[in-house]
Formats: sequence, structure tokens, C-alpha cells
Amino acid sequence: MNLRSAPAVVDMAGIGIGPANLSLAALAQPKPSISAAFFERSSEFQWHAGMMVPEAKLQVHYLKDLVSLVDPSNPLSFLAYLAQKKQLLSFINAHFEQVLRREFNQYYRWACSQLPNLHFNSEVRSVTFDNGLFLLQGDTWAQPARHLVLGTGQQPSIPACAQAHLGDTLFHSSQYMTRKRSFKDQRVVVIGGGQTGAEIIQHLLSDTAALPASVTWVSRRWNFSPLDESPFTNELYTPQYSDHFFAQPEAVRRPLLVEQKLASDGISQALLQSIYRRLYELKHVLQHPCHIRLLPGRELTAIQQRPHHWSLSMAHGHSQVQEELSADTAVLCTGYAYQMPACLAALESRITRCNGEYVFNDDYSVAWDGPQGSAIYVQNAARSQKGIADPNLGLIPWRCANIINSVSGQALYDLDEPEAFVQWGANEVFDEVGDARFDRLTALAN
Ligand SMILES: Cc1cc2nc3c(=O)[nH]c(=O)nc-3n(C[C@H](O)[C@H](O)[C@H](O)COP(=O)(O)OP(=O)(O)OC[C@H]3O[C@@H](n4cnc5c(N)ncnc54)[C@H](O)[C@@H]3O)c2cc1C
Repeated sequence: MNLRSAPAVVDMAGIGIGPANLSLAALAQPKPSISAAFFERSSEFQWHAGMMVPEAKLQVHYLKDLVSLVDPSNPLSFLAYLAQKKQLLSFINAHFEQVLRREFNQYYRWACSQLPNLHFNSEVRSVTFDNGLFLLQGDTWAQPARHLVLGTGQQPSIPACAQAHLGDTLFHSSQYMTRKRSFKDQRVVVIGGGQTGAEIIQHLLSDTAALPASVTWVSRRWNFSPLDESPFTNELYTPQYSDHFFAQPEAVRRPLLVEQKLASDGISQALLQSIYRRLYELKHVLQHPCHIRLLPGRELTAIQQRPHHWSLSMAHGHSQVQEELSADTAVLCTGYAYQMPACLAALESRITRCNGEYVFNDDYSVAWDGPQGSAIYVQNAARSQKGIADPNLGLIPWRCANIINSVSGQALYDLDEPEAFVQWGANEVFDEVGDARFDRLTALAN
């Protein structure tokens, strides 16, 4: 994007173009009453490029695309993409249980190519607020906007003991593919027992000709536990549940998040099955000498650099026995956390924070001391307030439709929801229809 002397003010300016702000752009596109512009530091759309392992599958249904949840007729749906690429019939015939993440990345890139208001190679360096307008500034450009939408995603979480050692042979999973080289004959340790750790284990074990000398999988959890994808758990990924969760006091929300951990952070059943079968094949069929160790219930506590390897110390669960592991390469699959982007430094003191987190309103705007009518919306940072669905792809279109309705001040998207299957909240009086039917049945029985 080039420097423009008097850029037009837009209704909303988005920082970051990941799935969240891309969905916002796609849903805003057919609404001419809203003008928008989006800015991304990368030169092209990248969906977690460092973790785009070839076999990785989407962890949600493909209809949880950029738009379908709120408007399946939007021309940027996944089905529209398949149709335009003339691969809809083959897709149907392929009967995928899960779509490849690589294919969804291609779909996202195709959607980007249809949207004229996305600006790549455009890192937002600073945001200021003056005279009722936000001003986003990059190296050679500036964009004024009435509202701001942060879609900057989450950043890698690195254990404190690893921070001083990051480099070519000890790195976060977000760099796994970008740093990738052969691990043949190396001792590789993967730390983290969630989906990412499992995907890396699967990848390390996939090529018999290039197997490491040893592969060790360490997890803090007591077992390599599955993602709970059962229907009533999936109800947690609905607008109704998100609304219910948001209405609860913090003292209720915090323990619920702990209880719901495996509804979001477990490993998909299909992947666990595939890893287990591969272990069986390597051990019993191929009798391969690659030494594979599965070590759940351990926490990484210290890292020492030795002349030719890493020495990793771990505390073993309840026993607290200290164990030592040697590794040529260690991959930290230790998750992600939200951080306020540096470009917001000038506004930081004006944004309300509670326990380090933004304070969200219904419409995904956050509390700040600016005037009403100048909102800062934040995507993917409200897990502790809106529930486990917040960082997930599933509800992104619904969240974006909420933002669009709020920016426009009109119900441009119909977000009325039917009553959920599950009544999560307390009812003082249950509905009369059920009671009356019960009375009739009791009368008949008598
Ligand atoms: C490996 C992986 C796989 C996942 N798979 C699934 C899945 O299958 N299903 C699911 O529901 N969820 C999945 N998730 C969770 C979630 O859906 C993704 O993290 C998703 O990418 C979040 O989208 P986002 O737009 O909020 O952030 P991101 O995708 O992280 O995008 C943020 C963008 O903002 C840009 N940016 C940051 N700062 C600036 C700045 N100052 N100026 C300009 N640009 C900036 C970044 O370059 C980046 O492109 C996955 C997460 C990971 C890590």
C-alpha cells in the first residue's frame, strides 16, 4: 500500500488478516453501507505456515468457513470455492471426514483474492486516536477509521526456562515447518501433549526412511487425552452457550474453563488412532530400532545446554522425581496466549484491563475511555469471558456479524437464535407446555 495524502476515512479498520478478520472482510463485503480496510504484515495470507504439516486436518466441520454460519449465500463460502474450482463433485465423492488444513488455507487465499480492501505487506506500526478517529500508521501509509478491529491472533507461549535457549535446535512449534530439516538419526523431544504435539509426533514418525534415532513425547497431562467432540460438548461452540457463559460471574467462569479443557485442547480421536497404529507398525511389524518414549505426567522444569545436546529436566507428576532427558532437537508445543499488539502502545493506558485482560462488551468491543461511537473490537482474546469457542474457527462468522451490526448500528445480519437444546442457566419455573403435558399423561395413567 502506498502513502496517500488524504486517505478516505473508513468505518472500520482491521489489524491483521487471519481467519478472523478475513471473515469480517467477507461478511462486510456485501454490505455497502459499511466501508472497511484491513492490514496484514505478511506479504500474503498465511495460516500458521510453521505448522502446516502435510497431514494436518481441520478440527472443525468445513461448513464452519468464513461466512456460512451467518450467511450461506455469501459468495465466499467454502462450497462456493469448491464450485468455482470445479471440484465440488469430487469433494462430495471423496467423503472426507476432516478437510486438510492445507486445503482450507487455499480456500482462505482464494477468498483473499476476491476482496479488494485487504492490504498485505502492511504492518501496522502505531495507532493513535484524535478528533474522534483512529489513525493507523505503517511505514509508508496511514489510514483513518471510525472503529478499530484487532485481529492480530495469539502469540507463542514459551516456558520461562526455555526463553534464553531459543534457536535452531530448540524452538516453538509455530516454527516447525519453517525450520524443518532432516531429523534422521537425531534424538528429538516433543514437549506438549495437545493437538500440535500430536501432529508433530505423527510427522516425525511418518517417513520410515528418515526416522530420528529416538522420539520422546512429553506431556504435562496424565495421559495423551482425546478431544471431546461429542454432540453436547459441541453445544459449547454455539452462540447461545457463549452468551450464557458471558453472563456468568468470573468465579463461575474460571472453574468451568478448567473443566472444559478437553473440549478444546484434547487431541482428535483420528490422530490418536493413527499415531497408535504407527507405533504398532514400527515396533511389531517393522521392528524398527527408532526408540520411542511416551512420557505423560511430566513438567519441563529446566534446560541446560551441553556441548553437543540439550539436557532437559522434568518433574514427574505426583512423585516429583526429577528426570533428565538428552535431546539434539526439542520442539516446544506449549501453546499460544493473547498479547496486546505493540502498535497499540499509545492507547494502552486508555484501555481498561482486569487481571491483564480486556473487559469485553456484548458486541466484542472492549471498555476504554474513548467517546461512545469510537469502538475498539477485539477478535480471539475473550476466552475467559466468552468461553472456549472464542479462539476457535467455529463462531468467527457469528462474532464478525455481531461486530458488523454494532458498527452499522443496524441488524444487517439476523442474529436471533433459536432456543438451545441444553438449558445451561437456572430456571425458577420450567415451561408450562411440558408441565401441562405431564399433567395430561398423569391423568390418562390414572
Ligand atoms: C496450528 C494451528 C491450527 C489450528 N487449527 C484450528 C482448527 O482446525 N480449527 C479451529 O477451530 N481452530 C484452529 N486453530 C485455532 C484458531 O482458529 C487459529 O489460531 C486462527 O488462525 C485464529 O485466527 P486469527 O485471525 O484470530 O489469528 P491469526 O491466524 O494468528 O492471524 C493474525 C494475523 O495478524 C497479523 N498481525 C499481527 N500483528 C500485526 C500488525 N501489527 N500489523 C499487521 N498485521 C499483524 C499476523 O501476521 C497474522 O497474520 C488453530 C491454531 C493453530 C495454532
